Amino acid sequence: MAAEVRPRLTVLSGPSGVGKSTVVAHMRKVHPDVWLSVSATTRRPRPGEKHGVQYFFVTDEEFDKLVANGELLEWAEFAGNRYGTPRRAVLDRLEAGEPVLLEIDLQGARQVKESMPDSQLVFLAPPSWEELVRRLTGRGTESAEVVERRLDAAKVELAAEAEFDTTLVNTSVEGVARELLALMEVV
Ligand code: ADP
Ligand code: 5GP
Repeated sequence: MAAEVRPRLTVLSGPSGVGKSTVVAHMRKVHPDVWLSVSATTRRPRPGEKHGVQYFFVTDEEFDKLVANGELLEWAEFAGNRYGTPRRAVLDRLEAGEPVLLEIDLQGARQVKESMPDSQLVFLAPPSWEELVRRLTGRGTESAEVVERRLDAAKVELAAEAEFDTTLVNTSVEGVARELLALMEVV
């Protein structure tokens, strides 16, 4: 019998505002060695965001080139901007046997599952719809129009929860971070 191949690639998805970045930031505070892929995006930086840290902030033309050169493992348009995962860095980590975490949207998660069926898909769900709206508006980083677009996208994302291998409800940041680390077999 073939030895079980453990999933080394973990995808974390969930509606905008559910707390993905907060959970990942906490996880990395506890375990700085956990590697998170840095995506490329055409979105403008929010205050405090730095090129090469939260994202590689690129122009539309630069993003076109990344796509044309096959440099993205997956990419998607989300609420008016494009986002994609640089392929090489992810493959290098996996080849070195290190756990890899992607924090990407539903469309990207589907593409990864298709091209890398051994990956595990984790859905981060809000305790309730009202709490999701509160968190997204409370963050205060988007205009009312952008919040509306993201809430529309959130309805689609929430309806796709069953496509994921595991659901974690983000009630406690510390608790979810711990569960995610366990799923990634870091602890
Ligand atoms: P995402 O990355 O999923 O878009 P963020 O990490 O930016 O979401 O979180 C959105 C807002 O919700 C932030 O203001 C964050 O501080 C808050 N938040 C995240 N997790 C929790 C939680 N468990 N309880 C309460 N507020 C939270
Ligand atoms: P934000 O603009 O709030 O940082 O991210 C918006 C959405 O884009 C989130 O759902 C986030 O997970 C997703 N996202 C971030 N990077 C990528 C990526 O590389 N690929 C895909 N498909 N989605 C991404």
